[in-house]
Amino acid sequence: LSEKLQNVFRNLRSKGRLTEDDVKAALKEVKMALLEADVNFKVVKQFTKSVQERAIGQDVMNGLNPGQMVIKIVNEEMVKLMGSETTELAFRPGKELTVIMMVGLQGAGKTTTTAKIAGKLKLKGKKTLLAACDVYRPAAIEQLQINGEKQGVEVFTMGDKNKPVNIAKAAVEHARKNEFNVLIIDTAGRLHVDEDMMAELEEIKEQVDVFQTVLVVDAMTGQDAVNVAGTFDEKIGIDGVILTKLDGDTRGGAALSIRAVTGKPILYVGMGEKLSDLEQFYPDRMASRILGMGDVLSMIEKAQENIDEEKAKELEQKMRKNEFDFDMYLESMSQMRKMGGFSSLLGMLPGMGLGNGKMPDIDTDEAEKSLARTEAIIHSMTKKERTNPSLLNPSRKQRIAKGAGVDISEVNRLVKQFEQMKKMMKKMPGMMGGKRGKRGMF
Ligand code: GDP
Ligand code: MG
Repeated sequence: LSEKLQNVFRNLRSKGRLTEDDVKAALKEVKMALLEADVNFKVVKQFTKSVQERAIGQDVMNGLNPGQMVIKIVNEEMVKLMGSETTELAFRPGKELTVIMMVGLQGAGKTTTTAKIAGKLKLKGKKTLLAACDVYRPAAIEQLQINGEKQGVEVFTMGDKNKPVNIAKAAVEHARKNEFNVLIIDTAGRLHVDEDMMAELEEIKEQVDVFQTVLVVDAMTGQDAVNVAGTFDEKIGIDGVILTKLDGDTRGGAALSIRAVTGKPILYVGMGEKLSDLEQFYPDRMASRILGMGDVLSMIEKAQENIDEEKAKELEQKMRKNEFDFDMYLESMSQMRKMGGFSSLLGMLPGMGLGNGKMPDIDTDEAEKSLARTEAIIHSMTKKERTNPSLLNPSRKQRIAKGAGVDISEVNRLVKQFEQMKKMMKKMPGMMGGKRGKRGMF
């Protein structure tokens, strides 16, 4: 038990500031996580460098160890990099027609996403027209028609014998005449970025009053998606990005890079083939997905919520002054309870989910039971005994054991452990700050 308690104290005491070693060690893991999530390596390099600069010397929050503190900062910076707030599609004011042009490679999800957006706009009370400007892909027009019908929105087509720019211009005219609020132009893609495609899109943009150019990219293509975004932004200029197929097992590292490379916000994410599978983009959710560190982040959040900073500080001061007593022992245990106890803390660690079977070394049930007995023992002590454990002679111990419903040997063991801990603290002022032992990162 004393080893477990040490861990608690480790988390309770203030750890001072993050050293360069703390930060470097944690960032090594972050780097790997980001590369695994297919974040562009230049972005990773630049990002970790700026995090390092920010993190070194920062105070470690109570309730976190240095590794967790670095992860906390990493997460915040990732959210910042992705835009902090959700950005929505922009519209022209009042009844003016807003023209949105969808661009992207073939198969990225333009046609599907066009219909998905139409459904969302319908719910907002906007009268939306879709224009079928992909005259190359067989059945592309029919695909848009079918999806438009499903969503209950009108689709404007002129077959596949006209130039896309002419179809787009005619669609604008039709939309104006019939008082549509929004026109979404579904364009053709190619398998790779190519001159003809770009020229065609540029032509539409020149001749039609496009208000928003939205790039659709497939999240599963990872770094390619980022390159595509960069090229499209350079050649045509984009206002926002929609990242599709995030329902797959991709970690979605592209989200981080796209924003960093183009500076353009992600507007929505595609979460499936169904027309309702389009979701708002939340940078904070995306950040934890990309980081992919189990639930370390929610553990950090929990620690943040629950640790009563005042109490922890008080405890630390007492420890510094070597006034460690049973009340503090109790307090430290209740702090741990607030964080959800052993089992929930352990369950939150990646790869340690309690659902997947037994823990290798620690019997959490037993640990919690033993904690409960320890609490009962301390509660059976008088106030004086708690603050002055040297009072505990055999007859007092006997009384306490009876009160707590345990054997006197357990009381003896607890007192012994307590004294050992106190001795150890005296010997190792480093435990209170400054010198740090080797410990797990998370
Ligand atoms: P376009 O060539 O860019 O118009 O792409 P499509 O809209 O035709 O989509 C290509 C394929 O991707 C289709 O089979 C879609 O159902 C699928 N798709 C589009 N968005 C998503 C998504 O968010 N998740 C999944 N799983 N599939 C998607
Ligand atoms: Mg299409």
